[in-house]
Amino acid sequence: MRVYADNAATTQVSRSALEAMLPCFTEYYGNPSSMHQSGQDAARLLINARETMAKYLGASPNEITFTSGGSEADNQAIISAALRGARKGKKHIISTKFEHHAVLHAVEKLGKEGFEITLLDVHEDGIVRLPKLEAAIRPDTALVTVMYANNEIGTIQPISEIGALCREKGVIFHTDAVQAAGHLEIDVTKQNIDMLTLSAHKFHGPKGIGLLYCRKAIPLSTLIEGGAQERGKRAGTENIPAIVGMAAAFREACENMAVNMPRVRALRDRLIDGVLARIPEVILNGDREKRLPGNANFSVTGIEGESLLLLLDNAGICASSGSACTSGSLDPSHVLLAIGLPHETAHGSLRLTLSEYNTQEEIDYIIEALPPIVEKLRMMSPVWKKK
Ligand SMILES: *Cc1c(COP(=O)(O)O)cnc(C)c1O
Repeated sequence: MRVYADNAATTQVSRSALEAMLPCFTEYYGNPSSMHQSGQDAARLLINARETMAKYLGASPNEITFTSGGSEADNQAIISAALRGARKGKKHIISTKFEHHAVLHAVEKLGKEGFEITLLDVHEDGIVRLPKLEAAIRPDTALVTVMYANNEIGTIQPISEIGALCREKGVIFHTDAVQAAGHLEIDVTKQNIDMLTLSAHKFHGPKGIGLLYCRKAIPLSTLIEGGAQERGKRAGTENIPAIVGMAAAFREACENMAVNMPRVRALRDRLIDGVLARIPEVILNGDREKRLPGNANFSVTGIEGESLLLLLDNAGICASSGSACTSGSLDPSHVLLAIGLPHETAHGSLRLTLSEYNTQEEIDYIIEALPPIVEKLRMMSPVWKKK
């Protein structure tokens, strides 16, 4: 059996997204900036896609800027808010210790360029505390950027409360909603979100496409200079196939959320219960309830995450330890360190992330395959033998 349980890293493109994309290569291949019929056909697809994305986010179409993905949108949001702040003498930025590197490295870079950075703790349960945020906000705070849901441990942050607080204090609030989009309800208006990032390949859309929502009142700076595409906020010929695919995937995910997510949550709970019941000395990282429907993240005492992944892969199971971006490096995950795990434990982490494409048979297969693999690795582990 082959089981894909790494949906936080990326997802399979849905059939409807793929089918929406294909005519963009064969028929609607015009450049939307061209005045002729072919160009205008493509321009219409672009308008429709923007309207779809705006509708399901509670935004208006002219607040949506398409980008090359989540990383670009995060960078553009943070840099825009920082430049706007600097113009007003506000050079303080608040974020958290467990953001995605696209946010963390962007704010750290600003830290080297004269901004003052406060990174909030996320506590053992992986959730930011509102009073701590409130205490950190200063008159010179230019931006609060807190992710909607964490990509490694899946914990969901109190986004509406943070939005309300930031609006009250007059501070720009950006959220990296890459893991939440298509899986959790989002309404940028109701939730007082000023800027929001999403990326299509985390909800069964194509890779290399995402967007930045930016509320009308807030000026966006450009990262890429050139033509007047995206109202001058992001130059370069629009990636029409990807944009159309993203809109199809997002519509599908939002329309089916109420049916799909309870099913995914049930699979996740079956997986969590099965793993915790069958393997001794395993802990679930992150709050049990306030987590993404598809996320399970465990620390397995006495083993190396990398060797575990290898043996799981041999058994046909695609999993991850920490995020895809940090696998390949031997540093323990900054997310697991942020929730207070010691280095040894952080090394032995296992992330299994599910989608509506997973089945109960696949979950049961993981629950059967995992205990003997962990047992085998522990028998070889010098750390475990000492016990
Ligand atoms: C995947 C991910 C990103 C990066 O998105 P890309 O489209 O791959 O650049 C950013 N933030 C979070 C939380 C993610 O999970």
